[in-house]
Amino acid sequence: MYDIAVIGSGPAGISAAITALVRGKSVAVVSNPASESGLYKAERIDNYPGLPAVSGAELSDAFISHARSLGAELFTGKVQTILPNDDTIFVGYGMEMFEARALIFAPGVVRTSAFPGERELLGLGVSYCATCDGMLYRGKEVCVVCLSPDAAEEAEYLRSIGCKVFTTDSKKIAIGGGDRVEWVEIDGQRRSCEGVFVLRDSVAPDVLIPGLELRTNTCASAPRARPTSPEYSLRETAPARLTR
Ligand SMILES: Cc1cc2nc3c(=O)[nH]c(=O)nc-3n(C[C@H](O)[C@H](O)[C@H](O)COP(=O)(O)OP(=O)(O)OC[C@H]3O[C@@H](n4cnc5c(N)ncnc54)[C@H](O)[C@@H]3O)c2cc1C
Repeated sequence: MYDIAVIGSGPAGISAAITALVRGKSVAVVSNPASESGLYKAERIDNYPGLPAVSGAELSDAFISHARSLGAELFTGKVQTILPNDDTIFVGYGMEMFEARALIFAPGVVRTSAFPGERELLGLGVSYCATCDGMLYRGKEVCVVCLSPDAAEEAEYLRSIGCKVFTTDSKKIAIGGGDRVEWVEIDGQRRSCEGVFVLRDSVAPDVLIPGLELRTNTCASAPRARPTSPEYSLRETAPARLTR
């Protein structure tokens, strides 16, 4: 059990983690690999005080080392599940899960927009998490849309549990059906399937955190946190499960 779980090891997440650590809190930071973040790939950063002309990779490494030196535990993985419990929050990434008393959500900017049909059929055949929902599709034809580095591994996991998997890395996707997913269209070619796993680097905040409502597309905060920004709100009754 940690006092605080931080999602995202960019400047916002690490800065929040450091502040919490110096105030005596235990902190776990979970993030996609820092080396895949936009900051890490920045050739040169000129506007960080005290560190002129630092590369994004050096800055990112320095942030993470700082947090680690103060006692942060850092885990690498994509957070796919956030489940508020009575007084705690469960955070799931990959096959792992841990519990924290509070959550700081610092995932940066989610740049992708949903495919046609994706939001409408979320939980009705569309899933963002192979390890969470894979068992529901044993013996069934599923499409895995591979848009994150770990997607091939997740597709392999689905095969290993008996799903009939086909994959694509196309971004020209449409998903359709009646009450549930019946087909996926890839580059204009329609193919029947019962499930579509859309595996991106990040998951939209309002999908990841049950009950979160975004007022703009730019900002979010955590369950049960006292609102500090006008950008979000939590519905009073949060759905119990993310994708069903
Ligand atoms: C090429 C480039 C050059 C730049 N140069 C400058 C510059 O010179 N000066 C400047 O001030 N700014 C610069 N920026 C902008 C700066 O990088 C961003 O403003 C800053 O990184 C935002 O910090 P953040 O912590 O909010 O998000 P991010 O740095 O994006 O960090 C968020 C992290 O959370 C991870 N994440 C998201 N969702 C999940 C999930 N579900 N599970 C696990 N992890 C997740 C992301 O993969 C990412 O690693 C540059 C950006 C780029 C891309």
